[in-house]
Amino acid sequence: MSLMIPYENLKTLNKSFEEQLKHKFDLFLDKGWYILGEEVSSFEKEFAQYHDEKYVVGVANGLDALILSLKCCKFNDGDEVIVPSNTYIATILAIIHCGLNPVLVEPDPETYNIDPEQIKKSITGKTRAIMVVHLYGQCCDMDPILETARLHQLKVIEDCAQAHGAKYKNRLAGTFGDFGAFSFYPTKNLGALGDAGAVICKSEADYEQLRQLRNYGSEKKYHNGVIGYNSRLDELQASFLRIKLPRLNEINEHKRELAEIYFEGLNPSFVKPKIHPDFHNVYHIYNILHPERDRLKQYLLDHAIGTEIHYPVAPQDQIALKGYLMNFDYPISTHIHQHTLSLPCSFAHTKEDIYKVVDVLNKFNF
Ligand SMILES: *Cc1c(COP(=O)(O)O)cnc(C)c1O
Repeated sequence: MSLMIPYENLKTLNKSFEEQLKHKFDLFLDKGWYILGEEVSSFEKEFAQYHDEKYVVGVANGLDALILSLKCCKFNDGDEVIVPSNTYIATILAIIHCGLNPVLVEPDPETYNIDPEQIKKSITGKTRAIMVVHLYGQCCDMDPILETARLHQLKVIEDCAQAHGAKYKNRLAGTFGDFGAFSFYPTKNLGALGDAGAVICKSEADYEQLRQLRNYGSEKKYHNGVIGYNSRLDELQASFLRIKLPRLNEINEHKRELAEIYFEGLNPSFVKPKIHPDFHNVYHIYNILHPERDRLKQYLLDHAIGTEIHYPVAPQDQIALKGYLMNFDYPISTHIHQHTLSLPCSFAHTKEDIYKVVDVLNKFNF
């Protein structure tokens, strides 16, 4: 069945970049330089400029951006990293892949993001870092988190996969911590036409380390200083990202306008996100909570409207994580996972699409 309003439509989304993308590909074919060339280094510069930062290293994807950031920290096996219980599993996987112990911390039920008070209670003698996730496009409450990190001398790593261009007190996501890890997976607010990622870092030492880690541990060809990976940002994807980056703010503004329609139009039976004026939310995802989420999802599908659930299975309930977590009881995160529904809110949607969704939603009765 083809949906009247699909949850996302990447083909439509990228249509508005079509001519430029085709032109870039022609140039790319002519040039014949495929790995770590001018497109990657130019994108790194431009992404750094966008954030008013100095150091950006392009990597293969968002998961690697997190893993390589952690690798830079040189923690010892068994050290603990604080991470939200309410996140996509990638954040937790990165910690496990580095031989570290994830300590899951519950979210603030209003913002869905990690609760700064709960972070304080979870710190032990083995805690080395706080990995925050700016979920759904809204920044975490960074001031108290940075204060806690400073007090306990913890590294801060930001998972910015859903927060390109999001701000907290006028400062961009990815610029608060020691590392800002980004994914450019095609559905993200800044999406490539394949896999891609990047890390913002604060020190020249970390910058050099990241550049080596992503390329077999070598800066100079065939000279390997560290045990590295193959996690390079693809040259072609970098060239596509350079076309889309100048329009990231336009993409975000569009999504914010669509979100506004939901805020104004949806009746109070739907729990909408709570937005503080200090937080510039870029609505990677516009979610609502509803007691009959599954029936609501089916009802929308019956009206040819696509939705998604971010996420259907909470991390502590994932089979893969059995044996890796110290606690399996996360009631707030569980509640969100059981009741959240993500509504269409893409650069590919028109305002008319969203008015239609609101109309159909407001006729749902339970
Ligand atoms: C998408 C995403 C990732 C992983 O990004 P990939 O590029 O798919 O590896 C990590 N964390 C969060 C919160 C994400 O949404």
